Amino acid sequence: MNKTILSVLAHPDDAEFLCAGTMIRLREEHGYTLHIATMTAGDCGSAEHTPDEIASIRRAEGADAARAIGATYHCLEVLDLRVQYCEEQLEKVCRLLNVVRPSIVITHSPEDYHLDHEQTSKLVRAATFAAPIPNFQHRPGHAETQPPLDAIPHLYYCDPLEGKDSFGRHVPPAFRINIGTAIEKKSAMLDCHESQRAWLRKHHGVDNLVESMREWSGSQGKVCGVEYAEGYRQHLGHSYPQYNLLAKLLGTV
Ligand SMILES: [Zn+2]
Repeated sequence: MNKTILSVLAHPDDAEFLCAGTMIRLREEHGYTLHIATMTAGDCGSAEHTPDEIASIRRAEGADAARAIGATYHCLEVLDLRVQYCEEQLEKVCRLLNVVRPSIVITHSPEDYHLDHEQTSKLVRAATFAAPIPNFQHRPGHAETQPPLDAIPHLYYCDPLEGKDSFGRHVPPAFRINIGTAIEKKSAMLDCHESQRAWLRKHHGVDNLVESMREWSGSQGKVCGVEYAEGYRQHLGHSYPQYNLLAKLLGTV
């Protein structure tokens, strides 16, 4: 099996918040190759810079954060608040899957606080299904890139932000991964997102990006008796891999 994991989340800093601890452990303990993709470059995340300026700053921050844990960063160049389930964006995600060829894919919870997150989740679900299908790519006028995947990868959903859906209902994970050994590196990744820390300082009066990630990961750890954890649900619909590869590799708490 290809020891490659890909996270496809909406915005720069989402992986750093939600699933980087698990990815760090996979690299350190099992030699996995890490890829972090964002749908957007975060072009709305500033009150001072133009969309193009902040996008180029945040693209660089995302790449720096990925590099800090030995991961490769990809930006699919959709605009903030415009992530949507459509043919063009589905093909982008599918193409990325066929280039990276992951055995494990992580995306957002289908229910989350932000529509970009929910639409990303849908796109990734559809793309993991489509990526092994030769005829999905073999349409007239559609540039051939990479061969289809051999199989549908293992697909996991992160916890939604604050563990709740848009109605405030608790969305419990199916299992949690202990990320105690990865928390310092996960924090160092968020340190790379200086523009977002400045944005928070301006809008919230406090730069609490790293603290709020540690608080969230700590709250997930507390409920299962460890210091820090990340929660996941596995996509177990028909034709998807049914055994829990993440749990087998890293154990659950
Ligand atoms: Zn986000």
